[in-house]
Amino acid sequence: MVAIVTDPAIDPGAIWRPLPEAYRQPGMSPTQIILHTIVGSAEGAFSFFRDRSDLESTYIVPFLGPRWQLIPLDHSADANRKANRRPDGTGAVSIETEDMGAATVERTPWTTHQVDEIVGACVYVCRTYSIPPRLCRTPSDPGIGYHTLFGAPSDWTPVAKSCPGAARKAQVPEIIERVRLELAGPATPPETGVQPMKVIRHTTGEVMLYDGVLRVPLNYGPTHTDNLERINTYAFLCGGITDMSDAAAPAGETSAEAIRRRKLSADLLTTTRVAR
Ligand SMILES: [Zn+2]
Repeated sequence: MVAIVTDPAIDPGAIWRPLPEAYRQPGMSPTQIILHTIVGSAEGAFSFFRDRSDLESTYIVPFLGPRWQLIPLDHSADANRKANRRPDGTGAVSIETEDMGAATVERTPWTTHQVDEIVGACVYVCRTYSIPPRLCRTPSDPGIGYHTLFGAPSDWTPVAKSCPGAARKAQVPEIIERVRLELAGPATPPETGVQPMKVIRHTTGEVMLYDGVLRVPLNYGPTHTDNLERINTYAFLCGGITDMSDAAAPAGETSAEAIRRRKLSADLLTTTRVAR
């Protein structure tokens, strides 16, 4: 007979990619979860943690595939200053998340997939360590927070920063509510029927994904080039690839001018089908 031993400090929903120091980090009793954004790629952050720094986070959530776990949940990860491990032995599990880099970090929301993975991690950690699914009310209050919840610098960061960026901060209440509902009872049965349009909300506007075709409101960004860039970004975030380039576009051309020049539909910039 083979005995399968499970360690509750290893999330069964994650890919286990331990850092060399995973079990050398001090023991810690998790009472908080703190959300971050990487300002770069998931693999880049992983190799930075592994090869070039003494820093680490407990999780990394990439754009594609399951979340990675780098440190056991009951060992401290050096990402949250005083919340790494407090004198009473409690501390924070940290979740790093892949983004599109510094240029767009304030306006890149977590993808639907990333939100699902963050919620999955939070549900597992909250259930395993009896952490309440609520926003932390103070820097040592049990719950879920994000890196700059109490400002920057603060007890959670020694430097000025805006991690995880405006667009992702705006998603935190929705994430906590989903964690709360999942912990409260069985999941509600999936809705039947067709959901024809999925609207992805954004702090400065909306992008609509409809049956694989992205449509961006005309007034979404200040210039045509800006909108093309956003379409490409959102196609990528939706799990697809498109290359909307327009070499003939004069610099600074507005969306309305581009629509007239290219004789496109009146109110929306629309991609060709997004390859998935
Ligand atoms: Zn951070």
